[in-house]
Amino acid sequence: MIDTIYFEEDISEHPRTLSILAKFKAARTIPIKRFGELFNQRKQNFRIQKSKPSLILAQKHNGHVLQAPGGFGIGGTKNFYFSHMYNCVYDCRYCFLQGMFSSANYVVFVNFEDFDKQIERIINQHPEETVTFFSGYDCDSLALETITGFAAHILPIFKNYPGSLLEFRTKSIQVNPLTSMKAISNCVIAYSLMPEVMSVALDNKAPSIKRRIETMSKLSKQGWKIGLRFDPLIHGENWRTLYEELIEDVFKIIPQKSIHSVSFGPLRFPKAMHRDIFKLYPEDPLFSGPLQQRGPIVAYRQEIENEMADFCRQMFAKFIPDSIIFQCTPEGQSPELENNERQTYSNNG
Ligand code: SF4
Repeated sequence: MIDTIYFEEDISEHPRTLSILAKFKAARTIPIKRFGELFNQRKQNFRIQKSKPSLILAQKHNGHVLQAPGGFGIGGTKNFYFSHMYNCVYDCRYCFLQGMFSSANYVVFVNFEDFDKQIERIINQHPEETVTFFSGYDCDSLALETITGFAAHILPIFKNYPGSLLEFRTKSIQVNPLTSMKAISNCVIAYSLMPEVMSVALDNKAPSIKRRIETMSKLSKQGWKIGLRFDPLIHGENWRTLYEELIEDVFKIIPQKSIHSVSFGPLRFPKAMHRDIFKLYPEDPLFSGPLQQRGPIVAYRQEIENEMADFCRQMFAKFIPDSIIFQCTPEGQSPELENNERQTYSNNG
């Protein structure tokens, strides 16, 4: 799966570097100074690189945990996110990573303990508040768990802080170590969902919706709290019927008591990001939909966005209380990142 592994010289003897390298004995290994010199190079072709990504093992020096943008949350008073890696094994056509990073190579930061320290510092700074941490902002939280072991590392930390909340956002059906441990009450396993026919067209290389629902069901039976994420909402022929069927199916299978929260949000891209992704996939049907520029973002027309949001909210309200339904606004999430911010963002390692 991975032919080439770059590693920063400074972490060549780090136990996590050694254990990851040991999993790819046949891979070519190349020492580098700093991952950014390779990862942030201009003139890389994300689309070509995506077909055979290399792995880069690096150390994150700052910005381990960052404040989540406004409009992004699942009920906590303070929201933060962190990324132990950049990029993803899946290839969703709407993914903002392809417009944010110039490289599709996977970067794994091996200094997990520095993430721990910052997470604990933030929790201790807000003793009276529910602090939510989102994992999987620049990657899929669990898809490469067999290589990184990050979830297995971080879960015991959160177990010590039951007043905080950790969300793993994923499409992965590989859910070890979750299935081999007792559920932790302050951890939400959040699955991104859309109607199967749309997912087949857009969620390239990701597990089918049916398998994601089966996995959620398995996790819920083990006591894990489940998050349902309908974000982005995708417009298309028969979207009402498709979303209605999906929502009914999900709530038929996942018991209400296991659902921590449901969130939904519109498809949106910052202008520059839309331009870059469109350049990569000009023929993709996603971009021939009713998108238009609205100020700094490219999104569906406002009336379509509102209609979809209202419809889905009403559907959710048939099954769960309003207090656990959250709408992510266009102000929220990374699509607000403009060119200069993207630069800062991808250079923060
Ligand atoms: S699973 Fe998430 S991070 Fe991975 S390609 Fe899809 S949208 Fe991007």
